[in-house]
Amino acid sequence: MGGENMTGSCVVIGAGIVGLHVALELQRRGRQVVVLDPGPAGGRQSASYGHGAWINPASVMPTSVPGLWKKVPGFLMDPTGPFYLSPMDLPRLAPWLVRFLLAGSSWEKVEACARRRYALCRDAISDYVRWSEAAGVPELVRRDGLVTVFRRRETYLAGKAEAGIRARLGIGLREIEAADLRAREPDLAEGYGFATSIEDGAWLADTAGYCQALAALLVRGGGEVLAARAIGFRIEAGRLVAVEADNGLMPCSHAVIAAGIRSDVLARKLGDRVPLASERGYHVHVSGASVGPRHSVILSDGKIAVSPQPGGFRAAGQVELAPVDKAPDWRRADIVLHHAARGLPGLDTGAPEVRVDRWMGHRPSTPDGLPVIGRARRCVQVLYAFGHGHAGPSMAPATARLVAALAADEVPALDLAPYSAGRFRLFPAAARRTP
Ligand SMILES: Cc1cc2nc3c(=O)[nH]c(=O)nc-3n(C[C@H](O)[C@H](O)[C@H](O)COP(=O)(O)OP(=O)(O)OC[C@H]3O[C@@H](n4cnc5c(N)ncnc54)[C@H](O)[C@@H]3O)c2cc1C
Repeated sequence: MGGENMTGSCVVIGAGIVGLHVALELQRRGRQVVVLDPGPAGGRQSASYGHGAWINPASVMPTSVPGLWKKVPGFLMDPTGPFYLSPMDLPRLAPWLVRFLLAGSSWEKVEACARRRYALCRDAISDYVRWSEAAGVPELVRRDGLVTVFRRRETYLAGKAEAGIRARLGIGLREIEAADLRAREPDLAEGYGFATSIEDGAWLADTAGYCQALAALLVRGGGEVLAARAIGFRIEAGRLVAVEADNGLMPCSHAVIAAGIRSDVLARKLGDRVPLASERGYHVHVSGASVGPRHSVILSDGKIAVSPQPGGFRAAGQVELAPVDKAPDWRRADIVLHHAARGLPGLDTGAPEVRVDRWMGHRPSTPDGLPVIGRARRCVQVLYAFGHGHAGPSMAPATARLVAALAADEVPALDLAPYSAGRFRLFPAAARRTP
């Protein structure tokens, strides 16, 4: 593999949406950047390929909230619900699950987390506009609001505590009544009588295509995207000298771990034990159907996002806590399809012209709902950018700015202690500074 002239360059591990934004931000600051990934940029192996398409500046709520623990027995019993954990996997996932439930044990904790999440996603749309224009694909960022539909207005009002947190952060929602909803989404079931819209949100009209466009932009700027898997780090006298990849050594002065669900394995080599779990999600891509959404919409009853994507539409959802290498359970994709068919009553999935492609991806989730952004414990030239759970696309550009500031030995715009890998230690050390 190339490398002799790479000293001083940055190696970014992972060509998902986080790694690609990090790579571009480093390049914007004049660094030579090489991205490693065994699969293509935004390819099927990555969560960034098949997510729900929402770029949501209001993605502030962590999944764990007070009272969730009462629902865990139901999650174990109901394999058709929106959240599932097999009783067989419970012993293995219990340590993560306990931390997860504790993180959401009070509304004070949840609100503190929401503020920290907001700091990462609030500027997402202007960032996406900028990057999509630079990459020559502005049409992929659709800025016509992020709509959630409800059967009844009361269902929406049931989430009052969450609404309070959003309001205190200054996040406004527009309410949409049934007639306007009908005009906007004529194929939706008539039973949806109410909707809310995050007006300054956006969605990606081609999630994989957006990643490919970022990778192409990086290459046009002199960067590289190489098919290789990072397996370790060469550290001499405390300084990073190279990333070890499965096809050779990659000399560099900095490395960034943005490997999604596989990031914890690499972080462990650097002395950090990060509790990362896969909240697996599924999508179905439906092509050839005569009905579909006109915009991206969340169907609150099925907890699925339905979005136009190239050649048809995608329905994405489900949270299945499961070991990373466990085989996909395609029945969960069928549950997503079932909810999509309920929401779009004209959808005939048995029609010969209708094709359905099923996909599973890993949301890389920490128990406390915050990503890991900061320096590695044993080597400050290795930086972390992973663990964004349900909101990697929404938080990627801000994460990239913070990581690029660390690589330049600048003080980042945000106090990174709450995002550090060290927060998971029994006795967390103070946030590390550049040597
Ligand atoms: C069904 C579903 C719906 C979702 N909906 C949304 C949504 O609407 N909005 C939103 O904001 N988020 C959503 N998410 C979450 C979002 O998909 C993730 O947060 C995000 O894609 C994570 O990006 P990433 O770059 O960290 O990881 P990934 O996209 O998984 O990329 C990581 C990359 O690292 C590579 N890699 C792994 N190990 C190595 C190694 N050793 N060496 C080199 N490369 C390596 C992998 O091959 C992969 O390409 C959803 C997720 C799912 C599953």
